[in-house]
Amino acid sequence: MTFRASVITLYPEMFPGPLGVSLAGRALETGAWSLETVALREFGTGKHRQVDDTPAGGGAGMVLRPDVLAAAIDSLSDAGEEPARPRLLMSPRGRPLDQALVRDLAAGPGAVIVCGRFEGVDERVIAARGLTEISIGDYVLSGGEPAAIVLLDAVVRLLPGVMGNDQSGTHESFEAGLLEHPHYTRPAEWEGRAIPDVLTSGDHGRVERWRREQAERLTAERRPDLMPDMGTALICKD
Ligand code: SAM
Repeated sequence: MTFRASVITLYPEMFPGPLGVSLAGRALETGAWSLETVALREFGTGKHRQVDDTPAGGGAGMVLRPDVLAAAIDSLSDAGEEPARPRLLMSPRGRPLDQALVRDLAAGPGAVIVCGRFEGVDERVIAARGLTEISIGDYVLSGGEPAAIVLLDAVVRLLPGVMGNDQSGTHESFEAGLLEHPHYTRPAEWEGRAIPDVLTSGDHGRVERWRREQAERLTAERRPDLMPDMGTALICKD
């Protein structure tokens, strides 16, 4: 099954953008996933194909119209089909994007992704079309497109066959609930700094334990909120 991504945007020229190169770009070429953009402007109303209007109740900025967004969503060839692809709205108010959500999405048939602009979208279309709001962090972008690119980049690399070395997915930050251990490569000594001896010992057990300890140390220092409950400790001691 090919993961199908449909992105609804005022700026289709922003895609594939970074998703057209490297891992995601090769996966696009080999058909591991597909990407279509839906130009919101084409569903705009009137001579000027207007997609937005002033906020009810007054205030600054413009709001994307519900009828325009709904028409764009309904235009997708699988609209109304079951199983439905998840419909996501990139939004700073949304559920924070994390690796668990990325994994869930990668295991599914694809996603319809709505990119907001201006002040955001009319609330009624969120309910009427079952949009799930997803945030990529506690800051405000000028539009949902960079957020959609971030989400798709994270999802695509988990699709079957996309990452060359299957191991590289399972040892990464967040996959075991921890940040990843430090990496080293040649030269063995650089600017007076040596690679830790354990990594050149050839003892795979010691290497694994060292990596685990380092991952726990880094997580405790930088992201204590991610540390596992010590009652069910994952800490790997000899
Ligand atoms: N008025 C909105 C608010 O305060 O929540 C911000 C609107 S923002 C200028 C325009 C669009 O950018 C949003 O509709 C959303 O699609 C996107 N966006 C901005 N920040 C985002 C974030 N952290 N995560 C996901 N999408 C974001």
